[in-house]
Amino acid sequence: MEKVLILGAGPAGLSAALYAARAELSPLVLTGTEMGGQASLTHTIENYPGFPEGIAGAELGELFRQQAERFGARFEYDLATAVDLSQRPFKVRTYSNEYLAETLIIATGASPNHLNVPKESELTGRGVSYCATCDGWFFKDKKVVVVGGGDSALEEGLFLTRYATDVTVIHRRDQLRAGAILQKRARENPKIHFIWDTVVSEILGNGVVNGVRLKNVKTGETRDLETDGVFIFIGHTPNTQLFQGQLDMTPQGYIVTDMQMRTSVEGVFAAGEVMDPHYRQVVTSAGMGAAAAIEATRFLEAHSSE
Ligand SMILES: Cc1cc2nc3c(=O)[nH]c(=O)nc-3n(C[C@H](O)[C@H](O)[C@H](O)COP(=O)(O)OP(=O)(O)OC[C@H]3O[C@@H](n4cnc5c(N)ncnc54)[C@H](O)[C@@H]3O)c2cc1C
Repeated sequence: MEKVLILGAGPAGLSAALYAARAELSPLVLTGTEMGGQASLTHTIENYPGFPEGIAGAELGELFRQQAERFGARFEYDLATAVDLSQRPFKVRTYSNEYLAETLIIATGASPNHLNVPKESELTGRGVSYCATCDGWFFKDKKVVVVGGGDSALEEGLFLTRYATDVTVIHRRDQLRAGAILQKRARENPKIHFIWDTVVSEILGNGVVNGVRLKNVKTGETRDLETDGVFIFIGHTPNTQLFQGQLDMTPQGYIVTDMQMRTSVEGVFAAGEVMDPHYRQVVTSAGMGAAAAIEATRFLEAHSSE
């Protein structure tokens, strides 16, 4: 029986683990497949306070983990595959185990959206990627396209200019959503070009990517563009399928919580991108993870005599 079981080891889950560990609750974290979460996929994080020169995403995740472990957090490299939240203790099943938990903190984050166009899945890992830090190196002296117009698209596009000779950002609107500093850096980078009002309607290539078919959303005109790689950064979907029907969710699938990170089931808390479509940052996710652990601690204190 776990006092606090945490699902997810991104900034939210690891911060929750730190706070629950410092409350001497010896939390268990089921990490899923991505220790450090999405943050570990990005090359440099420049907006997490305390690191004036920035820090590699993977390194920050590892520091979060070490700090939580120092106070007694435990980690299982396992994935939750089913949950039963109908009564306490809650049940969480993984491929190899079943856990019982007095409180549950859900911090399963979000996964990148796919374009859902022909050949996208077939060519994933063969030129199609959702992670510049992981795959950028393979595109040394090659041409790549980046799909998207938000912070992630520009951050990762800028990172790709280290390797690629040419980075073309394809955006379905005529204005970027990314922050001003990133926009300025991208526009001033001679390797970055923009194609506006355009979507990728198909990925081209036999066995490996050699181009994309583009469609101008204003004129309907289509054309093919040669490229060696397609990096897709068009938003995320919360990882909440496991909890469908058991917790209140928004129509977009985010878990609904109140200000204390409490979900619709007493004793179940949620933090980070699994419940937050608005801020989606390391610092905000970490803050929500801390809040969830504080609330779980209070909940356990209030129910200690049961
Ligand atoms: C390319 C990129 C660049 C970014 N750059 C920045 C930046 O510069 N600054 C910034 O502040 N933010 C940045 N972000 C956003 C930031 O990474 C996220 O806001 C943050 O990681 C969200 O944290 P989280 O803990 O809520 O979820 P996530 O980081 O998504 O972590 C989810 C965790 O849940 C686990 N998990 C999932 N399903 C299960 C399951 N069934 N069972 C158990 N575990 C599970 C995963 O393995 C993972 O450990 C970037 C994101 C991306 C993708």
